[in-house]
Amino acid sequence: MVLFDSHCHINAPQFDSDRADVIQRMKDAGMTGAVVIGCEEKELEPLRALVRSEPGFLWGAWALHPEYAPDDAEHMTHKVTVEEIVRANSDPSFVAVGETGLDYYWQKPPVPWQVERFVRHIEAAKRLGKPLIVHARDAEEAAADILASEHAGDTGFVLHCFSSTPEVARKALDAGGMIGINGNVTFKHSAVIQESCRAVPLERILAETDCPYLAPVPKRGKRNEPSFVSYTVAKIAELHGVPPEEAARVTEGNARRFFRIPP
Ligand SMILES: [Zn+2]
Repeated sequence: MVLFDSHCHINAPQFDSDRADVIQRMKDAGMTGAVVIGCEEKELEPLRALVRSEPGFLWGAWALHPEYAPDDAEHMTHKVTVEEIVRANSDPSFVAVGETGLDYYWQKPPVPWQVERFVRHIEAAKRLGKPLIVHARDAEEAAADILASEHAGDTGFVLHCFSSTPEVARKALDAGGMIGINGNVTFKHSAVIQESCRAVPLERILAETDCPYLAPVPKRGKRNEPSFVSYTVAKIAELHGVPPEEAARVTEGNARRFFRIPP
């Protein structure tokens, strides 16, 4: 199977002791690549080094994550500008701006600084001509509205770790977006996610792990890693009534097209 992980954090400290083995397992599993995501300033340089160590296989994306409030001294030292976001992602091996968006799980709405920061990231993506990776936790509909009104579909966006209803998925698709499906689609109490996955055309789905978190069944509860994307792809295939190889091939192609990665 050809597999691509559109969203992973193998730059995280959880992989410090065996990162090379994790990357080797990706290759052994037939993966053609992965996008690795940095969420705060101090992650940018190490992310660049990691991506450069695996050219044509690992790709980068950076944004200041919406979970980090401006007064969070550990994660945010200043208000990130459009120019800084552009500079961070201008490397050709950086294929998207993200993850950015809204997080109404940790911060109760309205959160004006989140919206303003989100809009600056959208502006940076437009300047770069690169797509956006959108984190929208308990805020999918609000994020989809902003993406539509800011015309983010012009450069493309994905609602990563999609966990909302088919109606919200439709809204994102209508605005020119993709839907990111991750391991939580395999969980027992994920009827809504499964329903949404079924409602989204296979051509509009990106498969992802978001590792080290949200390992799919049968690895649930363990540290997640990119090669486990195969379990999520198998579930997507089941929900769409196609063989796993076909879901793998289509979602891998979707990722390459979305991130403008040549075959
Ligand atoms: Zn993530």
